[in-house]
Amino acid sequence: MPQTDPAINAPEKLQALKRLASHVLNALLPPQCPSCSALVEEVGMLCGDCWKQVDFLTPPMCSACGLPFAFEVEGDAGDVLCGACVRARPPYDRARAVMIYGDFSRKLVLAFKHADRTDTGPGLARWMARTGRELTLDADIITPVALHWTRLFQRRYNQAALLAGVLGRETGVPVVQDLLIRKRKTPPQGRLGAAGRRRNLKGAFRFNARHLETVKGKRVLLVDDVLTTGATASASAVVLLRAGARAVDVLTLARVVRTT
Ligand SMILES: [Zn+2]
Ligand SMILES: [Zn+2]
Repeated sequence: MPQTDPAINAPEKLQALKRLASHVLNALLPPQCPSCSALVEEVGMLCGDCWKQVDFLTPPMCSACGLPFAFEVEGDAGDVLCGACVRARPPYDRARAVMIYGDFSRKLVLAFKHADRTDTGPGLARWMARTGRELTLDADIITPVALHWTRLFQRRYNQAALLAGVLGRETGVPVVQDLLIRKRKTPPQGRLGAAGRRRNLKGAFRFNARHLETVKGKRVLLVDDVLTTGATASASAVVLLRAGARAVDVLTLARVVRTT
């Protein structure tokens, strides 16, 4: 075989073909449970067994950060704050999430994030639309948390952007994917505490000056997959408010709830 064989590009072509084939297959195959791959009736639906494992976040909860309370709240629970929010209100108005981040939802989110289960995005975003109805009704613009482009490259897509896009289609609220820009690549936040995360994110985001007119006086709904300490949401909210947004709400798929 000559060394200049045009087949030298074959692996790339094969990859492209494989991708195409998987798209076609996804369109043809019956929908699967996003968690265990059992067959289900509708795209994004969990199978019965997995459904039972979801820790849905339900009221009563902190009206600001959405932390669920373990006790019943007397009278009108609409405006009760948790201890942390009483001490210092977050820069965003309300943060809400579909489920508690635990063993089950971690699997679901990680599969969505890293294992090419982008097909689960629409189903997950539909849940967010249901949970965050109060927030989407008030929102003028939906925008995702920004991901640094190098991470985007590794992961091939921004999961928050995907969720924001479907949420926009579900709710009719306009989506601006690039209100926020990630200025610098921050080290992974995994093992950092709240203060560490805040430091880590200092100056990490900036507002995309192209959209100054778009955001002025608007209520922005910020979308992410997981709310951990709220450091990313807070840093992003500060940037949006400084740029002229009237208020910022946050909607995520899952939320860390520390039990200590
Ligand atoms: Zn399942
Ligand atoms: Zn709170």
